[in-house]
Amino acid sequence: MSRTFSIIKPDATKRNITGAINKIIEDNNLMIIAQKRIQLSKEKAEGFYSIHKNKPFFNDLIQYMTSGPVIVQVLHGENAVQVYRKIMGATNPENAENGTIRKLYALNIQENSVHGSDSDENAITEINYFFDDSEIII
Ligand code: ATP
Ligand code: MG
Repeated sequence: MSRTFSIIKPDATKRNITGAINKIIEDNNLMIIAQKRIQLSKEKAEGFYSIHKNKPFFNDLIQYMTSGPVIVQVLHGENAVQVYRKIMGATNPENAENGTIRKLYALNIQENSVHGSDSDENAITEINYFFDDSEIII
């Protein structure tokens, strides 16, 4: 069993489809063991996506990620990182497989509805960036 970190992004909270996304998560044997709805500050969003700070899309990404509430989550299950990346689908929804969250719900390459950690190591860092141990309940 392992953990991954997830964000349901502002395009999804605005369209009131967080429950639909959570159903896909749960249908794929991932358990939501922590969850909260927050408004990201510019500083918090920049810190989270600091790996992309030299990319041409960085400023737009920060503007988008702070444009409305997000749901931050800790997911638990077998191969949580890999399973969640698979059910999220490709970054660009045009390339995402049928049945994935991004194929079903993403609007475009930026407003792509969900974030998921890309390694176990990053999952731990990202979980700790948003959650205290006492907020994670199995
Ligand atoms: P995430 O890290 O959010 O799970 P990802 O790992 O699939 O997504 P990254 O390459 O890490 O993709 O990009 C982070 C986010 O930046 C994307 O999810 C998307 O919202 C935005 N993004 C990535 N590439 C582009 C692009 N070419 N144009 C606009 N926005 C982009
Ligand atoms: Mg990424």
